[in-house]
Amino acid sequence: MTGTNGLPALFDAMPGVRRPDTGPLSQIHAGRIRTLLPRGFGGEWPGPGYIGLNVPRPLRAQALALGAGHDEYQRFFVARSQAVDPKWQPFLPLIARKHFKPLCVDMIPESSFGASLKNLLTEASWNEARRSSYQAAGTVCLCCGEGSGALQCHEVWDFDDRPTDDGWQTQSLKGLLAVCAPCHLMFHPGLANIRGLYEDIQKRVQAINVWSVADYNLHARHANRMHAIRGRVSWRLDFSGFRLPELEIDPKWQQLDDDGTFSRTLQVGRCVTRISGAAYRYNGEPRSPGEVTGMRGSGMIRQPAV
Ligand SMILES: [Zn+2]
Repeated sequence: MTGTNGLPALFDAMPGVRRPDTGPLSQIHAGRIRTLLPRGFGGEWPGPGYIGLNVPRPLRAQALALGAGHDEYQRFFVARSQAVDPKWQPFLPLIARKHFKPLCVDMIPESSFGASLKNLLTEASWNEARRSSYQAAGTVCLCCGEGSGALQCHEVWDFDDRPTDDGWQTQSLKGLLAVCAPCHLMFHPGLANIRGLYEDIQKRVQAINVWSVADYNLHARHANRMHAIRGRVSWRLDFSGFRLPELEIDPKWQQLDDDGTFSRTLQVGRCVTRISGAAYRYNGEPRSPGEVTGMRGSGMIRQPAV
């Protein structure tokens, strides 16, 4: 998940997810040019007047030579008044990028709840899988540039909405994004709603995307409609589009078939899923990738209207 200069390809990875290219939604999904740096969200780090930079380890010397500040944890930052200087653009998080593609929320369909990479893997395997995303971010949130607490890893999925004969449709992993906890909630509006933080994430999405309330509502209506539609079909998980280390399936999952089908009883019911497009191990044995993945049952998190 690195761009041509080795930096996180956030602005390639996110637009790589299928978006409407016609109709009113195309306006808010299109690339934009930012003329004002929006305010930060008040995180303790990097503090008022500063914005964090995404500096992967191989580019640290370059960032230092350009005059970036840094702390004892190798987190880099510049004064917000300096951020408009083009030399910082390659290092800036999404909220400060001049040319950018809006970040859009694709909610996980209820028929696919529980079938996340994080849930599927052992803790060690998940840590290995997500390590590159943290390295690419330079331990600073890729969306807002703040980094007071530990970053979290968000799985970016692309949903192929074309119907299939067997009723199983494909959701493909497009990337893993290292983000701060408040930014991570932007991708999970249902959870934000449960926690009473829905207005916070709406403001955050609007600030990052330079969206008006009307823009946001347009996107939310679309996301909510797709969530309802996608919840009616089964989803196979495809990992072929994103390079991952060998996956170790958590033994809490029961293998149902040699074709990569697994099941596990989670908080709200039994999940059945099938892995495709990646080598994996199960109980120490290497296995071939399966063909079709999907899951049926109620979800772990109720996701109400966006
Ligand atoms: Zn953030």
